[in-house]
Amino acid sequence: MSVYLDNAATTKPCEEAVKAAVDAMTVNFGNPSSLHRAGLDAQLCMDKARKIIAGTVGVQEECLYFTSGATESNNLALRGIAAAYGRRKKKIVISSVEHASVDETASALEKEGFTIVRVAPREDGRFYAADFADACDEDTCLVSMMYVNNETGYIMPVREAFSLIRRKFPDIITHSDCVQAYMKLPVRAKALGADLISLSSHKIHGVKGVGALYIKKGVRVVPVITGGKQEKGIRSGTESVPLIAAFGAAAEKLSKTIDERYERLTELKSYLLGRLSGLDGITVNSPEDASPYILNISVTGKRSEIMLHFLESCGVYVSSGSACSKGQQSGVLGQFGITGERADGAVRISMSAETTEAELDILADALAEGIEKVRGK
Ligand code: PLP
Repeated sequence: MSVYLDNAATTKPCEEAVKAAVDAMTVNFGNPSSLHRAGLDAQLCMDKARKIIAGTVGVQEECLYFTSGATESNNLALRGIAAAYGRRKKKIVISSVEHASVDETASALEKEGFTIVRVAPREDGRFYAADFADACDEDTCLVSMMYVNNETGYIMPVREAFSLIRRKFPDIITHSDCVQAYMKLPVRAKALGADLISLSSHKIHGVKGVGALYIKKGVRVVPVITGGKQEKGIRSGTESVPLIAAFGAAAEKLSKTIDERYERLTELKSYLLGRLSGLDGITVNSPEDASPYILNISVTGKRSEIMLHFLESCGVYVSSGSACSKGQQSGVLGQFGITGERADGAVRISMSAETTEAELDILADALAEGIEKVRGK
């Protein structure tokens, strides 16, 4: 039996998602752009998912565009806004702990002549809304700020920052990568003050390869992928109806239990912290008020990959830092003041609705054994 605690990297598709995908492959297999009945059925299948997902973020369904995942959504948000508004306004403000799909895209835009300002946490390791507002000026076209950090679970002050910015600079477009918040915290476009929101299906028990970008009505986004004008020309390419249907099914299922899961996960995290407090050499890297779904810890004197593989040999799957950066030292942890040996020994435990206390016991026992047995830095 394996204990899967790498849910920030990806989640197991739920039964409802798998069934919806299979139905869309076997029954509604048409091309949603086709004008005959099979096309219409596929279109209806996609409309259903769009309506569900739009509803979960409190937006109109015509403002939700399907993409191949949040990496593409983030690219579309940054590049699309830069192309639409960047002729006169050359500044983009992001946080210094964004996922690579925002950070690297910002770096690419920098090479094209944009000025990128990366707002960092203060010395206390926390982000302040005022610092984002202070980084903006009349030359700023976009502010992009993730809601929950994928490595530590840190909850960013998105709502406060966007509201301050809106008051000072009403024309600045606001974007939030809500991948690690969606279906874990309430993600509502209006409450967050976000003009654009990126979502990913495989982090919410959907299937890999599909995501969405919400674009507020009236906000111009120049498409990155051009072609047959699917998704109203914002994202050309035949839509993956099975993946979209699965996304909708997963969102529908999870949207009913956001609050109760949050409470349960808070209890689970505190149970885990209790177990870890009895072990030598463990430092908790996630702040206390982080998302309960992610706990980042360091094991003193043990390199994370070595510990990760030891845990794997015990059937426990966790991650070292971010799964996207495969083995590379995380710059994000450094931003949070986690450096040197502590960063080298960082292990990310990420839970899901299905995680149990018994599984956390197996993890804690395996960690205890690893601390004893694993040599090597
Ligand atoms: N943004 C965040 C915060 C993430 O954690 C991830 C995936 O790890 C992504 C974006 C990219 O999502 P996708 O895998 O759908 O491209």
